[in-house]
Amino acid sequence: MAPKCYIVPCIVCLQLYPAYRTDSKTCSGACRVRLKRHGPDRYRLFDRVAELFDTDPFLVRRARAVELLRPDLLDRIKAGALSLDECADAVAEALWQLALGDLTADLPPPDFSAPST
Ligand SMILES: [Zn+2]
Repeated sequence: MAPKCYIVPCIVCLQLYPAYRTDSKTCSGACRVRLKRHGPDRYRLFDRVAELFDTDPFLVRRARAVELLRPDLLDRIKAGALSLDECADAVAEALWQLALGDLTADLPPPDFSAPST
């Protein structure tokens, strides 16, 4: 079964984001505008890598997300024991945990002690 969303780097700013379509290229409206303004030739990093390996640029972007978020899975993928689809949930979970960590990094630890009366 194909994943509901794919974690991939934006072709413009390289930040990871959840893509809900396999033809998604950018993370935001701002990056979409930048891509349109500067033209696709400026943002061909993943296309070039895909050409080198004779594969789909979207797969290269998905592999890059695994490399960044779950490098522990790379050996199993390279060995053919795990597909990108099979590890999609683990990659999405890692991005989610990373985002939660960023959001809660500045908060004081929760105080679970009983209130003193
Ligand atoms: Zn972007």
